[in-house]
Amino acid sequence: MNIYFKEFTLSTKKRRELLDVTRIVEQVVCESKVVNGICTVYTPHTTMSIVVNEPEGGLLEDFLNKVSSDFPDDGRWLHNKIDSNASAHLASMYLGNARTFIVRDGKLLLGTWQSILAVELDGPRTRKLYVQVMGE
Ligand code: ZN
Repeated sequence: MNIYFKEFTLSTKKRRELLDVTRIVEQVVCESKVVNGICTVYTPHTTMSIVVNEPEGGLLEDFLNKVSSDFPDDGRWLHNKIDSNASAHLASMYLGNARTFIVRDGKLLLGTWQSILAVELDGPRTRKLYVQVMGE
């Protein structure tokens, strides 16, 4: 069993935005030399998420609009009594902060229209992204 880990720093520029990290993750899988196994993409933050979908501009805007309407900044959130970012925490809890992928024949097994997207929910900030590949 081979385990390969890499940490990245992402700089986000907006309060809410999506960053396509597919190429970064593919590169780690390539470097790992793992042929068959799994790849975990993880962000160690409480106001950021990892999702998988099609990186089409209109869809990404729809997604961010949906996050804003489901978790409005001016909602009557208790966490806002001590901090101002309850909406970001809540969205992150619903979206999740990690995803696991299949590595097969040395490549990430993604669908044609699938990309790996990091979701900034309380930017702009400097963020960490962990990628670990395990297998043989
Ligand atoms: Zn907070």
